Formats: sequence, structure tokens, C-alpha cells
Amino acid sequence: MKQPQRQLRRDLLKTMGAGAFAASVSACAPMAPRSQQYTRPYSRNPWVAPRISMENIIREVVGHRPFRPPGFRVESEKFDDKIVVHNYGHGGAGITLSWGSSALAVRQTLGMEHRDVAVIGSGVIGLTSARLLQDAGWNVTIYTRDMARHTTSNVAGGEWGPFSSHDPEVSSDAYKSQLQFAARISHHAHTNLGGSDYGIHWTELYRPSETAEDGSEGEFAHLYPYEGVLGPGEHPFPTKYAHVSLTMMIEPATFLRRLTEDFLQAGGHFVIRNFAAKEELFGLSEPVIFNCTGLGSRQLFGDEALTPAKGQLVYMPPDPDVDYLTIGGGSSNLYMFSRSDVLLLGGTFKLGDWSTNPEPEETARIIAEHQRIFSGF
Ligand SMILES: Cc1cc2nc3c(=O)[nH]c(=O)nc-3n(C[C@H](O)[C@H](O)[C@H](O)COP(=O)(O)OP(=O)(O)OC[C@H]3O[C@@H](n4cnc5c(N)ncnc54)[C@H](O)[C@@H]3O)c2cc1C
Repeated sequence: MKQPQRQLRRDLLKTMGAGAFAASVSACAPMAPRSQQYTRPYSRNPWVAPRISMENIIREVVGHRPFRPPGFRVESEKFDDKIVVHNYGHGGAGITLSWGSSALAVRQTLGMEHRDVAVIGSGVIGLTSARLLQDAGWNVTIYTRDMARHTTSNVAGGEWGPFSSHDPEVSSDAYKSQLQFAARISHHAHTNLGGSDYGIHWTELYRPSETAEDGSEGEFAHLYPYEGVLGPGEHPFPTKYAHVSLTMMIEPATFLRRLTEDFLQAGGHFVIRNFAAKEELFGLSEPVIFNCTGLGSRQLFGDEALTPAKGQLVYMPPDPDVDYLTIGGGSSNLYMFSRSDVLLLGGTFKLGDWSTNPEPEETARIIAEHQRIFSGF
């Protein structure tokens, strides 16, 4: 199966091989700290390397992205006297696409006379759907097995990037239009909420690479206000090039907490409940039901296209001096996100892996590869 776009970029880096990588590092061994020799293209701050070591680990975390090769599903379905609006399957981009996907889902209710709606699920998709429904005048109750802090949404790294939501070889042109639309709406909504209140801030994103071409934001370039390529000698990374752009960091814990507060303030209610089968949903009093159960839709609605993409993260203490993100620079799925609560390192993207345990060998790999990426700073 073809990999999501960001993964493809990372796999290009992987094909460089460890030897070439080490050689490029030693060939450029600096006399003085290299970060002092370079000027950052956007920020006025110096480059500061994150402190990465096994001793510095706070915690290892695992989450399962709700990956659906054809892409996320927004669609309504009629079951006797109930209308179910599906909004699930956002893979590695649910935080990013949340507002846009939920706007598409709420659009499905246009022309409906009812005013009471049940939203199932309290992750980022359930909460953004609920908020938009409230704004449109609906009375909303969220029924959920877990409150937001116990969901996959709270495990997310939180970088704004509409990638890894689908398999481009399987998804349709209609889906690609839907994705573009959702990304645009989401981008607009997230930028409106920028600031510490919602845990959203703009930041530089670096993508170390051996090629000048690999790494652009592709069909989403118009949503990145700054894009550039640093050539050899212009950056401290152990690769020939470093792509740089500006993007948003959405801190999941803050964002989800704030959405929860907004929902309650607007008169919403939570009911803690686990649904074992879709027939149980039809016993609810609300005539309209939003299905925002993420990976739970596999069991609830028998969607076998849904599969987990296991992601493993390694948390280090936060470091406010590290004011940028990196993606790539070694084997697949590497990233370093600097947030106010943690500095996190990823990761993995293991399709079909339901295991919930962190794997020590993955932690060791993630640490070692990131130590190499920042060894020239
Ligand atoms: C390691 C990792 C890194 C990530 N990084 C990013 C990133 O940087 N940027 C980004 O945009 N995305 C990222 N993601 C992806 C993002 O986390 C997901 O796409 C998103 O969380 C999906 O949200 P959701 O609301 O659909 O699902 P969830 O957060 O899983 O919420 C589902 C909700 O449904 C409820 N539920 C499920 N089944 C039932 C049931 N039977 N009965 C009652 N309730 C039920 C659950 O309790 C939960 O409340 C990452 C994910 C992982 C794992």
C-alpha cells in the first residue's frame, strides 16, 4: 500500500542509509558550535538544540490513529427514524482537520427541522462537531465512553499538517477535494483561535533532507505563509538541505480543555456511556446522531477499512528555548515537537498494530536518531 505523503518524504530520507548519514555529519564537523554560524531565515532567535537523552525521558506514550485508506468519512445515513451523521477516520491529521471536517458534517443537517442532537465521542472531532452544532442552534448532548483527556486526541503531537489522513493510491478525487476543503476551513478556524487561550501558536517547522525538492508542503503550500529551502552551509542539520515553513502548533491538552469548557458554557451536557453496538444508539431520544467515535466506528458500524496506525512518542521536559519543530532527518516518522507541556519525540506509524505498549527498541531508535539530527548544533 502506498504510504501517506509525509511518510513518503521520510522514506526517501531512509534510503540514504546510515553510513551516508554519518559521513555527512563527520564531514561537516564544526570547530565552534554551528548554531552560532547560521542565521535563522525567519526567527531572530539563535538555534538551540533540544536536550535529548535516555535519562531525560519523562514518559513513553502510545496512541492509535484512526487510519482509513480512502480517507475520513463525512456522510449521513438513515436508520428508520434516526439520522446518523458520520464524522470519523482522520488518521494522523484529526487535530488539523477537526474544524473543517466537522463543518462538512454539520452541513449535512441543513434543512432539518429537529433541534436535539446526540454527539457520540468526546475527542477533537466530537467536540468541534458539538461546538459547531451549538453555534447553529442545536441542543447538544455528548455521549462518550471517555472524556477528552483519555482519548487519542489527547495523545496527538498537535502539529497543524493535513497529511497522513489517507492512502493517495486508494482515495478518490472527490475525497481529495473534500480534504482540501476541510484543510482550508480548519486552517481558517485555527488561525482565528491563535494564542495561549486555545493553546495554538505559530512556529517554524524544519525538515532536514538530502534533496532540495523533497519536503515542500505540496498541494497545501498555499496554507503555509512561509516556505523556503536552506542549502548546504546554511543550516546546522546533518543533511544537505533543510526545508523550512511556518505552521501552527496546537497543544492538545489545552485545546481540548478549552473546547470542553466552551461546550459546557454554551449549555451542552456530557453523559458517560459506552455503546456496544449501533442498535444501542437508536434507543437515544435524539433523532439526529453524530458518530464521532474515531477508531470505535470499526466495531460500532462495522467499518473494516478503519485500521489503527500505532504511534509511539517519547516525552522530555519542556524547553522553551527550543522554539521550532522538526520532521524527518533520519528513518521514517521522526519528529521533534516543542510544546509548553513537553518536548516530544516521535515516532512510529505502524498500520494494523493494536498493541498499546511502548516498545523499548523504538524508544532507543527515536532517541539515537534525534541525537544525530541535533549533533551539529
Ligand atoms: C502519536 C500520534 C500523533 C498524532 N499527531 C497528530 C498531529 O501532530 N496532528 C494532527 O492533526 N493529528 C495527529 N494525530 C491524529 C489525531 O490524534 C487523530 O486523528 C484524532 O485524535 C482523531 O480524533 P477523534 O475525535 O476522531 O477520535 P478520538 O480522539 O479517539 O475520540 C473518539 C471518542 O469516541 C469515543 N468512543 C469510541 N467508541 C465509543 C463507543 N463505542 N461508545 C461511546 N464512546 C465511544 C471515545 O471514548 C472518544 O471520546 C496523532 C495521533 C497519534 C496517535
